[in-house]
Amino acid sequence: AKKKGKDQYAVFEPSMRESFQRHLEMEADLRRAVLRHEFQLRFQPIVRLATGEISGLEALVRWQHPERGMIPPLDFIPLAEETGMIVPIGEWVLREACRQAARWNERRGPEAPLTVSVNLSAVQLERADLPDVVSSALTESGLPARCLVIELTESLLVDHRQETLDRLGAIKALGVRLAIDDFGTGYSSLAYLRRFPVDIIKIDKSFVDDIGDVPAAASLTLGIIQLGQALQLSTVAEGIEDAGQLSELADGNCELGQGYYFAEPLTTDAMQELLFRES
Ligand code: C2E
Ligand code: CA
Ligand code: CA
Ligand code: CA
Repeated sequence: AKKKGKDQYAVFEPSMRESFQRHLEMEADLRRAVLRHEFQLRFQPIVRLATGEISGLEALVRWQHPERGMIPPLDFIPLAEETGMIVPIGEWVLREACRQAARWNERRGPEAPLTVSVNLSAVQLERADLPDVVSSALTESGLPARCLVIELTESLLVDHRQETLDRLGAIKALGVRLAIDDFGTGYSSLAYLRRFPVDIIKIDKSFVDDIGDVPAAASLTLGIIQLGQALQLSTVAEGIEDAGQLSELADGNCELGQGYYFAEPLTTDAMQELLFRES
């Protein structure tokens, strides 16, 4: 492209400058958002498929931008990771999720406490103090460690460094459980199961989507569930949207599931209503 004529530069340059400026503006907005606490959590129930009871919640972050409205995570997490701002954002998510889950568990009483699942970025795992951050979120909130699940994506587990393994080991030693998110979409999912001390497999939505219409997807999904059982791991199916998918998964003995069929990610108030409504 460098050898092209001046005219083409004239066409190309403004749009590059524009996108560069948009990037800078977004970065400044994100810094302000961290200072002004413009983030919110949504909670999506994770349901025990055999009984329909809520076994836990996944915390999902949103950015309430003062002019642009509610921004979904995929539109700002990449920039937050690039700039390192995912570290304070992720720490806020963790503390807030633990605090809210501890409150709800207190109100529910000692039987069948809810778990809360928090997504972790690879950038957070690069920090040596991550185990301390997790530990203090638990202490401050009073949430028992066994009620916290940290979700890791396979892309994060590509990291072979010993420090990464040690950090995950230190988090596990607290009693926190680890889940592999989007299982089956990565390059060598099975290798990670051997290398990392995970407790839970989250079967990617793409398998669940096709379970009713593509025989191979159904076979693969059942295979992943059986693999989980053989390794004594919990299996969670993601993105269940209809009764047909639910019955296939329940028949295959998938332990847990989440998706719009049960509930979308809910505001704190709506989640509270769902948990404590008079039945
Ligand atoms: P994820 O961890 O795989 O989360 C599941 C996503 O699927 C959520 O999107 C959820 O709203 C959506 N979902 C749940 N059930 C259904 C369904 O039945 N159908 C469909 N079509 N979608 C469903 P969301 O909230 O937009 O989050 C997108 C991604 O952003 C998450 O994917 C996760 O990778 C990331 N993310 C969200 N919150 C955080 C966070 O606090 N920290 C980090 N590092 N990443 C986060
Ligand atoms: Ca997740
Ligand atoms: Ca997922
Ligand atoms: Ca389908």
